[in-house]
Amino acid sequence: MIRRILRGEKKQPLPIDKFVPSLSAKKLITKIFIDTAFWRRHWHCHCLPERSFSLNKRQFQICARCTGLEVGIIISPISLIASNTPSSLWQLLLLLFLLDGSTQALGLRKSNNSLRFVSGLATPMAIVRLALEKLIS
Ligand SMILES: [Zn+2]
Repeated sequence: MIRRILRGEKKQPLPIDKFVPSLSAKKLITKIFIDTAFWRRHWHCHCLPERSFSLNKRQFQICARCTGLEVGIIISPISLIASNTPSSLWQLLLLLFLLDGSTQALGLRKSNNSLRFVSGLATPMAIVRLALEKLIS
């Protein structure tokens, strides 16, 4: 990291333009994750550029992990539809989130934005699924 700073490299958000092919999807994502003031006011995220996504060279207002968490909250009912998936899969996804976040926070390893997004995405789905299983049993 120090070498990067000495070389004058800036920490840039990861562009996701190539993963969002349609113009309407880009507009929707821009409206939700870039233009709205909600995230800055109500979601306390570090917003580090190197841990965030960008679209059309504009950085998201939340990091990749928080983006995954928010999308995961929205799509978490999908975990209820997948009724024949074993509990161990959902527990494993929760463990992935905990391991990725904690080992990075402790400085043991460096994560990447794809892993941050996926682990964030899976966590709300796993929580909803495991909570429902607990309620039913
Ligand atoms: Zn965040």
